[in-house]
Amino acid sequence: MNKHGGDDDAQAWTRLLAYEETFQCVQCGYCLPACPTYETMGKETHSPRGRINLVKWAAEGKLTDWRLLADSIDNCLGCRACETACPTGVRYGAIFESAKHALQYKRPQSLVGKAVQRGLFAHVFPRKRVLRTLANATWLYQKSGIGPKLRGSRIWRQTLGPLGAFEPHLPALPSPRERALRPKRRTPQGEAHGRAAFFAGCLMDALFERTNDNSMRLLQATGCEVAPLAGGTCCGALHAHAGDFLLARELAKRNIAAFEEMNASASGGIDYIVNNAGGCGAMLVEYGHLLREEPEWAERASAFSSKVRDISQVLAAGGPLPFRERKPEQGTNIVTYQRSCHMTNVQKVTSEPVRLLQSIPGVELREMKEKDKCCGSAGIYNLVHHREAMDILDVKMAHVRNTGAVTVVTTNPGCLLQMQMGISREGMDGRMRAVHLADYLADACEWSTSSE
Ligand code: SF4
Ligand code: SF4
Repeated sequence: MNKHGGDDDAQAWTRLLAYEETFQCVQCGYCLPACPTYETMGKETHSPRGRINLVKWAAEGKLTDWRLLADSIDNCLGCRACETACPTGVRYGAIFESAKHALQYKRPQSLVGKAVQRGLFAHVFPRKRVLRTLANATWLYQKSGIGPKLRGSRIWRQTLGPLGAFEPHLPALPSPRERALRPKRRTPQGEAHGRAAFFAGCLMDALFERTNDNSMRLLQATGCEVAPLAGGTCCGALHAHAGDFLLARELAKRNIAAFEEMNASASGGIDYIVNNAGGCGAMLVEYGHLLREEPEWAERASAFSSKVRDISQVLAAGGPLPFRERKPEQGTNIVTYQRSCHMTNVQKVTSEPVRLLQSIPGVELREMKEKDKCCGSAGIYNLVHHREAMDILDVKMAHVRNTGAVTVVTTNPGCLLQMQMGISREGMDGRMRAVHLADYLADACEWSTSSE
């Protein structure tokens, strides 16, 4: 008998569920309107309350078929909008991740599936050299011009699956030579506003390197001395969301140790660890929680997390950016801002990007309806639940269109690709674009040549 009432070893997996957390839920249903999957799927089992109840019943040994829980949890975006909406402070993220972790021991996974996941998680995302090779191969592929010829072919669809839908939306990557010439450190211009370690991320640095460079330049312009977090690696967010806490903790420790070394060698220390990807930032601010049960790391992890900032927070608090009057695109300068769920619901950063956009001369920001709702990107959700993610995206795009905006600004690479996909689905290519906040701000600065 397990402590929750299950009566044999087949129930051992349920001991990993965050059972105690489920008691915080008073079944009020205030979270239901905030949940994108409840909106598009319309089932209680695909709502936050339904998911919490399934976890509770599984932990109590009352769930006759674990697949019910797996289906419900797999269809959750992990956007945590329900946490923000909940009046009793239910820690849905902890319940969700415990279920992901527990289900790993229940569901059968093919050897190939296991090997692919292990390969990506342990040997691709954490390795800068592998990511650099991937980025260089993508640059070569883009340069060859072969993409448009292959797109739509059967071999293309069979090889890439849903991934193929995102390929046309990747940014044009810099050449290996440009990559090698990027500045490693930037000293502040004007009055100094602190020293920052820039968290470049894994895929972010491989596929959105120009956004990272623009981010460092903006930090410099606002008065920060900034250098990439030397020895930093993947934040571990994808690992944690897939239930692989062992690897997530290992990556967290590597990042903490890298920061401590950089901090010790900087005279006066590092003031902030700055990131520009909502999903990574949310993981970094939760390192304290992730390592809370490891005595050697708990305090160090909390100290690390206390220094984590989204770039918009540092820019909004720093010296003024050298903006100039922005020229209209498509005859207008109306922009709308698609929030990153993890930035909103975990980091609680909401007003700074808005203030920054509003401070650009000539730009009109129009907020969309249901601005806090997920776009359906959610890590790799849009790859593994492509159809469901597109249903959520279509709802989002209707709200985007109603703003009359020609530019959708985002703060996360996944949201950026998803919004570009949405623009294509709406047949708005060439008339609307999605852009990262750092690129939009840099483009509005007087040093930029692209908006002249
Ligand atoms: S995390 Fe998002 S998708 Fe999942 S239950 Fe909460 S609101 Fe719904
Ligand atoms: S998670 Fe919070 S908002 Fe949702 S039903 Fe439970 S108590 Fe109510």
